[in-house]
Amino acid sequence: MSTVVMPSAPRSPAPTARAQRTCAHLDFNRITDEWFQIAADHMKLEREIQLLLRSPYRELIVQIPVRMDDGHLELFHGFRVQHNAVRGPYKGGIRYHYEVDLGEIRSLAALMTWKTALVDVPFGGAKGGVTCDPTHMSRNELQALTRGFTQKIDMALGVYRDIPAPDVGTNSQVMAWIMDEFGKKNGYSPAIVTGKPVNLGGSLGREAATGRGATIITQEACTAYGVDLRRARVAIQGFGNVGSWTARLVARTGAKVIAISDVAGGIACERGLDPERLWDHYRASGSLAGFDGSREISNDDLLALDVDVLIPAALGGAITEDNAADVQARMIIEAANSPVTPAADDALRARGVHVVPDILVNGGGVTVSYFEWVQNLQQFHWSLERVNTELEARMKRAWGAVFERSTGERIPLRLAAYVEALNRVAEATRQRLV
Ligand code: NAD
Repeated sequence: MSTVVMPSAPRSPAPTARAQRTCAHLDFNRITDEWFQIAADHMKLEREIQLLLRSPYRELIVQIPVRMDDGHLELFHGFRVQHNAVRGPYKGGIRYHYEVDLGEIRSLAALMTWKTALVDVPFGGAKGGVTCDPTHMSRNELQALTRGFTQKIDMALGVYRDIPAPDVGTNSQVMAWIMDEFGKKNGYSPAIVTGKPVNLGGSLGREAATGRGATIITQEACTAYGVDLRRARVAIQGFGNVGSWTARLVARTGAKVIAISDVAGGIACERGLDPERLWDHYRASGSLAGFDGSREISNDDLLALDVDVLIPAALGGAITEDNAADVQARMIIEAANSPVTPAADDALRARGVHVVPDILVNGGGVTVSYFEWVQNLQQFHWSLERVNTELEARMKRAWGAVFERSTGERIPLRLAAYVEALNRVAEATRQRLV
């Protein structure tokens, strides 16, 4: 059996070890809805607009039969939720994970609507996913699954309709298969997905974009709240696309990354880890463990370390009311989607911890996805320098708008980010629909 090399994800541990994920019981859809409602109440958003913005526009649930390498037929289930397209085509990643369900995808689709509005790219919000474990599937099986999923949701996709991208458990190879499968029926359409291999029309800088955006926001937040990032101690949960790039780029600012983890556990080193060398070690061994000069720690230990900045960059629900009291960080940068639950957010805020919200922190990915889409439509390539310069400008503009509202109205950053995003989507809705 040949296994696809997912650059972001070595194999998951055996199913028994997976029990360490504690958030399976969390209702992410309810959590996202709660943030929406708090913001809608704060801004006194009219009832009609609330009705239109709260629920998704369209949801697809499809079955995907795949003939596995050993000959048996496996039936997978896939989802594509299109939340809102009032500001532009639906846009959002595709997640392959064994805990994917409709509620989680629904929540992530809504987050995309608020995120695209906040970083001000002309897209709406969507998300897709398949309930599967890609780390235990061969390359052939993953390709068959991806092509089957693309065929089933093809009628809802389109260059000006709905544009997928990578998320947890998917990568540029998966995007290449989607582009190819969509192209069979619809003709050459590189703009149908973003996060493609550069060779097929992907953008320079897309792979690092979410981590780069998170690093820019970390710098801005540290400046605003008086934390000297060059002397700061940082811990990062997750070492996939977002976590590994954030680690590398944050370390380049001079900060000391003292701990990093993945699904199997973490490592720590008081002197600071070298994320570039750690990435080579990880690629070679498939594990963080055994890295020179580091000690092994658990994911729970990592979240409770005495650090200035904690960056959850793995899955949702990492910090809940059960472990919020253990967190010692002065600032939490939500690089993952929904890593802090509302109850944990309240508890952290009461202790003066600054929580910088996901829809702002991880908006760099969709920003460069927009640049990729623009390049595909024009059949013209941008330099890496141009991508990074324009990304930095947009992230700083988004931070500025959120921070100004937060200080001006004396409200938390998350509420400020939601109000800013909802305002933009609500205004477009009034102009187009009501
Ligand atoms: P990925 O699949 O590349 O990496 C996920 C990482 O999380 C891996 O290192 C994995 O081992 C780790 N992980 C999984 N379960 C864990 C657990 N229980 N404890 C600790 N670590 C665990 O995914 P990614 O693309 O890096 O996405 C990470 C987060 O960032 C997700 O919430 C995703 O929705 C969000 N995000 C990603 C992008 C993007 O461009 N890839 C953009 C915006 C937001």
